[in-house]
Amino acid sequence: AADRHLVRIVIVGHVDHGKSTLIGRLLHETGGITPQKLDQLKAISARRGMPFEWSFLLDSLQAERDQGITIDTSQIRFQTPSRDIILIDAPGHAEFLRNMITGAAQADAALLLIDAAEGVRDQTRRHGYLLHLLGVKQVTVVVNKMDRVDFAEPVFRAIENEIAAYLAGLGVRASAVIPISAREGDSVSARGARTPWYEGPTVLEALDGFEPARAPGDLPLRLPVQAVYKFDDRRIIAGRIETGELEVGEEIVFQPSGKTAVVKTIETWPAPPAGREVRALEAGAPAAITLDREIFVERGEIVAKPSARPHAARRIRVRLFWLADEKLEVGTQLIARLATSEARATVAAVHQVVDPGHLSTFEATGIGRNQVGEVELALSRPIAADPHGVNPRTGRVALEIGGRIAGGGLVVSVLDGEGTKP
Ligand code: GDP
Repeated sequence: AADRHLVRIVIVGHVDHGKSTLIGRLLHETGGITPQKLDQLKAISARRGMPFEWSFLLDSLQAERDQGITIDTSQIRFQTPSRDIILIDAPGHAEFLRNMITGAAQADAALLLIDAAEGVRDQTRRHGYLLHLLGVKQVTVVVNKMDRVDFAEPVFRAIENEIAAYLAGLGVRASAVIPISAREGDSVSARGARTPWYEGPTVLEALDGFEPARAPGDLPLRLPVQAVYKFDDRRIIAGRIETGELEVGEEIVFQPSGKTAVVKTIETWPAPPAGREVRALEAGAPAAITLDREIFVERGEIVAKPSARPHAARRIRVRLFWLADEKLEVGTQLIARLATSEARATVAAVHQVVDPGHLSTFEATGIGRNQVGEVELALSRPIAADPHGVNPRTGRVALEIGGRIAGGGLVVSVLDGEGTKP
């Protein structure tokens, strides 16, 4: 239940626009860093004869993490009055996408940073596009370095209009556009006195207003089968519950085969004393179950409840980011991986190729390296899939060529395949 207020955010923006400075300031102002640590860092920069930079704070945390000094190695966390914020590292958009594709990172919300003196750049637009591609719907824009433009309202308004229009073109609504100075501390957690014309939230208030992700337990059951083991006469089906819950005695269905059974036992090791058996499992738990009847099921199928099952998809529309050198075009053969299943896939149509820098859609027969687009994939056999909007865990696809990840993205829709809308 504590995790219900957890929001994973990503901060994106052109290099040098002040990402690290903003993160350092947020950590400091939310108590994510001790005063001792801060003094220590200020002393170090004084000794080096450099002005204190908030970004040092982040660099030094990074260095500690690299050396494995701190316990929490992968995440930066801080708290706003009603949210636990986890900051997802986004070193570059290729890495970020790779993480997204493989499921390592899933951002619920984003801060898009713009340098007030530089304005909206191509990279800003590209980042905005990536957020859209990733299905991140909550975006707050932060116009940083307002001190460089003397906190002039017209400069801010021009940037605000340009970026809001760009995002609106993508169907993304900026929840706020905030003028700040990360370095000097205006409107990060305390309202900036030099922007009296601004009436919106501070960065901290905007973060506090982000909706937490829907808890995976609230979504319908999805248990992708990792393996089926045979012990004596018993078949044990093993995997990990991505979303939803599972109970002994419940009827379940395997997709895409459509076979049904009732959960007989939930197996745990070592075996518990009689009467103490596990009767139910929640999202996130490893699962090993036996069934009331003998049916043949394999790795790759997804266990669901009959009333809310994933599609047994034969043809899917995918919004993807392409990383490989070879062009993705009609006829290209790939391996598509979805949860624990894989199938051969052939590109049946290329619907859209987009230059994220200018949001121009152009006519093209294929998608090149670092381009994004939407394609239709025909699968060699049905696999279980959900549209990303319905279930982000099972609505994500990785594409491989010759054993390498060549791209990936979101299942926009299932064009051919039976299923029940959860
Ligand atoms: P990053 O590359 O986006 O992480 O940017 P940094 O946080 O490293 O900042 C880049 C440079 O911009 C550094 O020299 C910062 O001191 C400077 N900077 C960051 N925020 C502000 C600000 O609000 N005002 C001014 N004038 N400079 C800033």
